[in-house]
Amino acid sequence: MSKNHWQNWSGIVQFNPQKIVYPHTEEEIIAAIKKSVANKQELRVVGSGHSWTPLVETDHTLMSLDNYQGVVHIDKEKRQATVKAGTKLKYLGKLLFEQGLAMENLGDIDVQAIAGAISTGTHGTGIAFGIIPTQIVALRLITASGEIINCSASHNAEIFKAAQVSLGALGVISHITLQCVPAYKLKYVASKQTVADCLQNLQHNIANNRNYEFYWFPHTDTIQPKCSNLTNEAPIERSIGNFFNDYLIENGLFGAISTITRIKPNTSAAVARLTAAVLPQTEVRINWSHKVYATPRLVKFNEMEYNIPIEHFEAAFNDIRAAFDEHKFEVHFPIECRFLKGDDIWLSPAYGRDSAHISLHVFKGKPYQHYFNTCEAILQKYNGRPHWGKMHNCQANKLSQMYPHWNDFLAIRQQLDPQQLFINGYLRLLFGLDLPKA
Ligand SMILES: Cc1cc2nc3c(=O)[nH]c(=O)nc-3n(C[C@H](O)[C@H](O)[C@H](O)COP(=O)(O)OP(=O)(O)OC[C@H]3O[C@@H](n4cnc5c(N)ncnc54)[C@H](O)[C@@H]3O)c2cc1C
Repeated sequence: MSKNHWQNWSGIVQFNPQKIVYPHTEEEIIAAIKKSVANKQELRVVGSGHSWTPLVETDHTLMSLDNYQGVVHIDKEKRQATVKAGTKLKYLGKLLFEQGLAMENLGDIDVQAIAGAISTGTHGTGIAFGIIPTQIVALRLITASGEIINCSASHNAEIFKAAQVSLGALGVISHITLQCVPAYKLKYVASKQTVADCLQNLQHNIANNRNYEFYWFPHTDTIQPKCSNLTNEAPIERSIGNFFNDYLIENGLFGAISTITRIKPNTSAAVARLTAAVLPQTEVRINWSHKVYATPRLVKFNEMEYNIPIEHFEAAFNDIRAAFDEHKFEVHFPIECRFLKGDDIWLSPAYGRDSAHISLHVFKGKPYQHYFNTCEAILQKYNGRPHWGKMHNCQANKLSQMYPHWNDFLAIRQQLDPQQLFINGYLRLLFGLDLPKA
């Protein structure tokens, strides 16, 4: 194996770049960019490698900002934090908390780099909140010419709208300024109910919880709703229920029985039923927000996720349940459903619409194509847009129809990177770009 062998979190993307560089300063970022341009080679920048799509794959230079982490500046009055783009979300949570600040919302894990998370439109749940990039007020971007461009809603506004979700295709983001909120505690409660109860109370639960989502256990009638709300109660680090869920259900025990389903796929439905049956009735966790959002993910899987307009959620969800009845997918991982506010970011899957996000997971090593392809067709029927970091089959012909500002994004991209330094084979397919001339 090459000494530069690289693979993503699940192992589904693997490649051998010529070199991996770890700049410590903006000067070193610029120097690496100029070197790649001079050598007429590609450069891709990577966060924590937690995307399933081959966004960072390259034969040439892979740039990691792991050595470029930390706070650049805190504006206490405006509650804004400017951070280095390689800062991992877990470290960021700690740094902000030391300043009495927090991010208003986050996703399920906290191991991503902040630039990696925003660049694919990573999100959590909560109808009052947008995807994480909506928390950005300014960005600093280093382009293929080595120029540093500062952008925000009022300065280089078009570049800002393109850069907030930009797949590492405009340049290397070096600094990100986040609008934060005062540090807050969350009370997280997970419970158990039937599908009918869940759907009957869905609108109410989405509207009346700060962060609401649910898991549906396939082949069963079991839903696990998860609600987080503001609290001043004393922290409960880990109740028996949490321990059971985080380490036994979602990780240890779940890992062991998942392996059985890989060896004997026809046990999947039984395993889903068993998992649903042993779910605790209630779990409670109370803590500072950055410690509540993320849960450990020790069992590896592959994932597809689509954003659909929120008004189509129930129909799409019922179609997916019907597809399980029809196709008997040999899948035991729960389906995660989240709800978010729309935004105006050009390549945001939530552009222009309040949204539901439906995520499908398959244990690593098990076939996923039939399941993902069938559900993808359902979700596309409801005007779905794929998560940029998760598996999907869309290319330029479809994507260009999904995003009203598609051509505006491509124009800015071409303007900032005319030599296509930041473009790999996968991005060529996404953006409909020709192969380079030999
Ligand atoms: C277990 C697991 C749980 C997840 N949970 C969620 C979730 O709850 N919600 C959700 O929405 N997603 C989730 N994801 C998906 C994940 O958040 C995204 O794929 C995210 O982009 C990964 O961040 P990363 O730091 O690993 O970036 P990478 O995957 O390494 O890179 C992603 C993109 O960011 C670009 N990039 C990285 N750094 C820079 C930079 N400095 N400048 C310009 N571009 C850059 C890369 O070029 C690439 O295009 C999950 C993934 C996993 C594996």
